[in-house]
Amino acid sequence: MKVGILGGGQLARMIALSGYPLGLDFIILDPSKDAGAVGLGEHLHGQYDDHALLAELAEKADVVTYEFENVPAEVATFLADHTRVFPAPNALAVSQDRLHEKGFLEQLNIPTAVYASINSLKDLEVAIENIGLPAILKSRRMGYDGKGQVVLKTKDQLASAWESMQNADSIVEGFVPFQREVSIIAARRPCGDVVFYPLSENTHEKGILRVSECCIDDQLQTLAENYMTRLLDALDYVGVVALELFDVDGKLVANEFAPRVHNSGHWTIEGAETSQFENHLRAILNLPLGSTKALGHTGMVNFIGGLPLLEDILKADNSHLHLYAKDFRKGRKVAHATVRDNKEEEYSQTLKYLSDLAKLTDDS
Ligand code: AMP
Repeated sequence: MKVGILGGGQLARMIALSGYPLGLDFIILDPSKDAGAVGLGEHLHGQYDDHALLAELAEKADVVTYEFENVPAEVATFLADHTRVFPAPNALAVSQDRLHEKGFLEQLNIPTAVYASINSLKDLEVAIENIGLPAILKSRRMGYDGKGQVVLKTKDQLASAWESMQNADSIVEGFVPFQREVSIIAARRPCGDVVFYPLSENTHEKGILRVSECCIDDQLQTLAENYMTRLLDALDYVGVVALELFDVDGKLVANEFAPRVHNSGHWTIEGAETSQFENHLRAILNLPLGSTKALGHTGMVNFIGGLPLLEDILKADNSHLHLYAKDFRKGRKVAHATVRDNKEEEYSQTLKYLSDLAKLTDDS
């Protein structure tokens, strides 16, 4: 079986690596000659909207998936007309526009921050009268890792914040006073079988994920699974999906969902019986899904912009390093390390050691 992947970054790389033991082959479309997943399969070198390459991808692959959600709608539709594409274009269409996404979550009775659509400074001023401050102005499309976002604390910031959006269609959200950020990751097959991973507790700084920890037996697991089930059913979803949530006094407020494997699930490679990457492949190939059981205390640290000495990372013998084969660049995720230990204290010590280490070379 051959799996096509749109995008050749670290997510495609980890998908391909998890597919090798299953005997899968890969074909990867990416505009960069040295993207991290190139070399793990046939590389189609060119732009994502190159119809000749998309047709070749569709013809050669038994099923096509993608590693990022900003795939242009017409590209996803073109592929879906020629081959099986999972997740289906409807999930992309909802998730790549924050306004549609919020409306969709609301329809499913999944709580979200209060929000308003913003197309002018006037809209923003009126919305802030209703929503209050602090708030966050976000571009509706193409935002990730906190890009295209401004935190609003005072009214005199409004004009410059709107100017910085360069007239992009936007939304403003009330700032959610959360105690924790968590995410739930699920995998669903075409036949409707679903598995859920234990919640991840996520620490972000400057909008970028720094650390994710697996929460075994979290009291909000059942509620998160309930919200996730509504989302999966509404989209008739196939593949892995992540729903990011805020924990506010024991209630969950949804932030956004990502129709793909997710950074907050990287710990599953060593920390769960079956990784999110393998379960994504199993789901899109309609194979039985693997157990999501956690294998101990597990967490993950991202290395952003740079990397400490390998010796310093690897000397923690309960850690595992994943390099993404990417050039170092400001704010760019270049690697992650997972810590897994049966003893909670040893686990916590190594996680702290690695996150302190990551800060030394972090240039974001
Ligand atoms: P996003 O790009 O929407 O995932 O936002 C990146 C990060 O910004 C989130 O993980 C939160 O840490 C923070 N954030 C986003 N929206 C809100 C909000 N409405 N209230 C509080 N924090 C937020």
